[in-house]
Amino acid sequence: MQQSVISKVKFILDYLDKKYPDAKCSLRHDNPFQLLIATILSAQCTDARVNIVTEKLFERYKTPQDFAAADIKELKNIIKPTGFFNNKAINIKNMAIKLIENYNGNIPQNMQELLSLPGVGRKTANVILGNCFAPEGIVVDTHVKRVSKRLGLTNNDNPDKIESDLVKIIPKEKWNIFSHQVILFGREICASRKPKCDVCGLNTICSYYKGY
Ligand code: SF4
Repeated sequence: MQQSVISKVKFILDYLDKKYPDAKCSLRHDNPFQLLIATILSAQCTDARVNIVTEKLFERYKTPQDFAAADIKELKNIIKPTGFFNNKAINIKNMAIKLIENYNGNIPQNMQELLSLPGVGRKTANVILGNCFAPEGIVVDTHVKRVSKRLGLTNNDNPDKIESDLVKIIPKEKWNIFSHQVILFGREICASRKPKCDVCGLNTICSYYKGY
């Protein structure tokens, strides 16, 4: 890796560590299974709204067996406020069934097996591995995608390719917290429409701000 890239990444990580030392997953959960459900529900929905829905949902259904046996109409009704509830309900029920059939109801702890579950893509699998087990990659959501591009950490648009670029330059021990920090930074400073570049502590090394 070039010295200039190493210095730039260090500058960014130091800044994020100072600004968001306690960044962590904002989806409410008590165990990996609940986090998996919450992450599936978070597609196209805010974490705050998911947390309101899961409070009721996890009262009603507690185990993979509960979700596997759930009445699909009732399940859809409870998760409706998160949007795309038809697909989400079917995926959650099928995921719970497969979890019981193939994994004795235990959440797999590696990428390959997680990806075999209905409704689980690479982003969701990275959330589970990073927060509950050992990370195998970096979560690339809309904030990580936008901020990484603006900072010049990637030239790609495809989330898988962005992840592949990031894991080459971000130290592994930072993979999990990096996403949480960038998500907070993306919401507070580097917003999609009006980034607050003038007050941003990264403007001296930002490709977008420098105009290239
Ligand atoms: Fe985002 Fe602007 Fe900061 Fe660059 S300078 S990271 S575009 S807020």
